Amino acid sequence: MKKKLIAGNWKMNGSLADNEALVRALVAGLASAGGCDVAVAVPAPYLAQVQALAQGSALALAAQDVSQHAAGAYTGEVSAAMLRDFGVRYVLVGHSERRQFHDETDADVATKAQRALAAGITPIVCVGETLAEREAGQTEAVVKRQLAAVIHLNGHCISEVVVAYEPVWAIGTGKTASPEQAQQVHAVLRAQLAAASDQAPRIRLLYGGSMNAGNAAQLLSQADIDGGLVGGASLKAADFQAIIAAAQ
Ligand code: PEP
Repeated sequence: MKKKLIAGNWKMNGSLADNEALVRALVAGLASAGGCDVAVAVPAPYLAQVQALAQGSALALAAQDVSQHAAGAYTGEVSAAMLRDFGVRYVLVGHSERRQFHDETDADVATKAQRALAAGITPIVCVGETLAEREAGQTEAVVKRQLAAVIHLNGHCISEVVVAYEPVWAIGTGKTASPEQAQQVHAVLRAQLAAASDQAPRIRLLYGGSMNAGNAAQLLSQADIDGGLVGGASLKAADFQAIIAAAQ
């Protein structure tokens, strides 16, 4: 059976001291929880610290972004090979904050996913509509377009990718998609994956957008929700652990 994946996204938060306390608590809790996979996507400067703290545990390391380029004159960028050097297992690509504040296009997202896969890192490809797009009845069209960009990556099967549905209006706003709203979109994505690959049932589709200790169980019980991408609630050990417990 497919294990659920709970991935925390720390965004631009953390400090050496806070990270140490949080990761130590998570690692201690994970010793007794083997029913789902767990990862934390940390800011790049903390990759080495969290790699060392998580060494030998079930906590997987994730990055929040990866360069489209392999190497060279790209000041400030971090390549997939560099992430691999730190034992990074997953990388977020196409997070709405990257699409919104860094003008990342679907084509950029596809290139980044391709770079990650080539380095042996699983991309977590984020898709999701804005409030204006939802209100205009465009949710399906938007998420299908975003997923289509990564569905046929050169030399790779879509089953090597994790997909996260994150309605933009639910990210960091405290507004969660209802379990039914989320499942409806997940079913659309699953059908699109099924049309492209016979591996569709084993592709993990995460929900993200104000997932917390109180709403996780209901969201995670939906037929096509295979885990969560968790922002704010991943910064507090007790909250993140409650979400992990709901995914067991
Ligand atoms: C995210 O950053 O991917 C996210 C879902 O954030 P939050 O849980 O805070 O809405």
